[in-house]
Amino acid sequence: MTNDYYETLGVNRNASDDEIKAAFRKLARQYHPDVNKEPHAEEKFKEINEAYGVLSDQEKRARYDRFGKAGLGGMGGGYHDYTADFNDIFEDLFSGFGFSTGRRSRRSPRRGRDLQMQVSLTFEEAVFGVEKDIEFSRDETCSRCNGNGAEPGTTPIKCGTCGGQGEVRQVRQTFLGQMVQTAPCPTCNGRGETIASLCTTCRGTGLERRKVKKKVSIPAGVDHGTQIRLAGEGAPGEFGGPNGSLFLVLEVQPHKFFKRRDNDILLNLDINVAQAVLGAEIEVPTLDGDEKLKIPAGTQPGKVFTMKGKGVPYLRRKDRGNQLVIVNVAIPNKLTKEQRELFEKLAESLGTTVKPQEKGFLDWLNEALGG
Ligand SMILES: [Zn+2]
Ligand SMILES: [Zn+2]
Repeated sequence: MTNDYYETLGVNRNASDDEIKAAFRKLARQYHPDVNKEPHAEEKFKEINEAYGVLSDQEKRARYDRFGKAGLGGMGGGYHDYTADFNDIFEDLFSGFGFSTGRRSRRSPRRGRDLQMQVSLTFEEAVFGVEKDIEFSRDETCSRCNGNGAEPGTTPIKCGTCGGQGEVRQVRQTFLGQMVQTAPCPTCNGRGETIASLCTTCRGTGLERRKVKKKVSIPAGVDHGTQIRLAGEGAPGEFGGPNGSLFLVLEVQPHKFFKRRDNDILLNLDINVAQAVLGAEIEVPTLDGDEKLKIPAGTQPGKVFTMKGKGVPYLRRKDRGNQLVIVNVAIPNKLTKEQRELFEKLAESLGTTVKPQEKGFLDWLNEALGG
């Protein structure tokens, strides 16, 4: 931090007005708080402005040269943003930030808009991938006028609002004061020309709505909400700019009994009391059809069995998640006479003692599902 205005701007004491202006311009670009987010940038920017305010004013500069800051009295203080006087500083500052100050944007290539559409998939289509036919409407360059909006044989004329510049000036309020910006001309939409006889097909828009049919290959392993970007399939660009993209937002319908958790499949399965107690080999539905699963003797309700590699394929990989089978022991509520007698015998044999549980169903489940 320096107290000397010449040092602040990095110029020597007999610098010309142009040198001072150039030095200020350079520093203002570097420290403007809209672009420089470092902690001291704003302070530095204020100093630069203060220095320029004095050194760019002949009278103030003369007093400062003779008497230093004291000689300025009240003249030196106060904060004014001098960058507002330099339109070109803002062009440089903001052209890289997505909002344009005009001059550059006129007739320069503009990328077309992105489009979005929902695509509905069955559970299995999402898991294994599918070739999907999609149909959508989008604007395309008008074939009659080739996009310039004028009836063939006629030519567009210079826009009266902007005088063919394609832009109009606007004043914007910022925390630093007024800032002049230019915006595309509302009459000609930045084209700089208007059309006397409109193209009869597009009515001057240069665009034609067309239905588009496409075959899209949906990869295995996509999920509800996955977006697929089709580059170049969006709205057409302007002035030679590239087309936008088409985003497919996938909606996956739920399955009757499979649930998905990322790349794992969860399946709730009922087994009967005898299977749980004595063990069994059972048939379990998987994405690949029925598969055998061994239930060991003494299986508790809530026990989770992992069937490796029977889950959902990982996107762009060869391997798959697992299927987790969560076993419920179904307690029968209707018994045949024979079953009833057997249970009564069992009851007699097991006695009437009860014992509090140390571990409940939810503990089992949480442990097994890793959460
Ligand atoms: Zn215009
Ligand atoms: Zn047309």
